[in-house]
Amino acid sequence: MSSLPERREPFDDAQELVTQERDTKRSMLRGWRRKCPNCGSGPLMKSYLKVNDTCSVCREDLSHHRADDGPAYLTILFVGHLMAPLLHLVFVTWRPEPLTLFTIFAVGCVGLSLYLLPRLKGAIVGYQWARGMGGFGTA
Ligand SMILES: [Zn+2]
Repeated sequence: MSSLPERREPFDDAQELVTQERDTKRSMLRGWRRKCPNCGSGPLMKSYLKVNDTCSVCREDLSHHRADDGPAYLTILFVGHLMAPLLHLVFVTWRPEPLTLFTIFAVGCVGLSLYLLPRLKGAIVGYQWARGMGGFGTA
């Protein structure tokens, strides 16, 4: 058994430093509010889903995010798991007219998806920023 300390690459130390000073939960909550994960006051998005390249308040570089399909996946996951049992419950309990049921749930699904999608994207960008994922770790 050797008592030598574990060999560490310089990148490991930089990565650890980034994640120590960035609180993941706080960053995700700021992202959920569509605010910059660094300062919490600058807007994160410049349109419905487009993330600003830099924060207009603290100049934090936000162009390194790689949310990709994550927000859409999570939105479908939440909306599907909420609406499918609700649809069953409403149908069994009240037996509404099919057109009424379809209209209510179509509007509900679309509305909830449009509400969740930018907020989940903000939370994912906040998570990536806090954990130094993608280009955030080396920036
Ligand atoms: Zn900021």
